[in-house]
Amino acid sequence: MINERSAPTDRPCAADPEHWDLDNGVLVDWLDAIQQCIDCPVARACRQLTLDQLRAGTPPLGLVQSGVAFTATGRELDPLQLPAHAARVARHRERPGRAA
Ligand code: SF4
Repeated sequence: MINERSAPTDRPCAADPEHWDLDNGVLVDWLDAIQQCIDCPVARACRQLTLDQLRAGTPPLGLVQSGVAFTATGRELDPLQLPAHAARVARHRERPGRAA
C-alpha cells in the first residue's frame, strides 16, 4: 500500500487495512478492496510504486495493492483465483491449535 506523498485519509486502504490483507480477510473484502483501488484518489502513484516494487523484485506480500492481489510469496493472483485462495486461507484458519 502506498504511504508516501499522500495523506492517510486519501487512501481507502489506510482507513481499513484488514480489507486489503490477503492472509486474514475474506473474499468479499478483497473484491471490495480491488474495486476501491480502482476508485482510489492516489491510484496512479500507487500503480507506479507497485511497478517499481515488481521491477526491483520486491513485490507486495499478502495484500491487495493497486487493485492487484499478491500472495504471501508475492505471486499475483487473478481475481478468478481469489475464491480458491479464500478457501486455503479459511482452511488454514480452522487448523487445530490456531488462535481464533
Ligand atoms: S490504489 Fe489501493 S492499495 Fe493503492 S493506495 Fe489506493 S487503496 Fe491503497
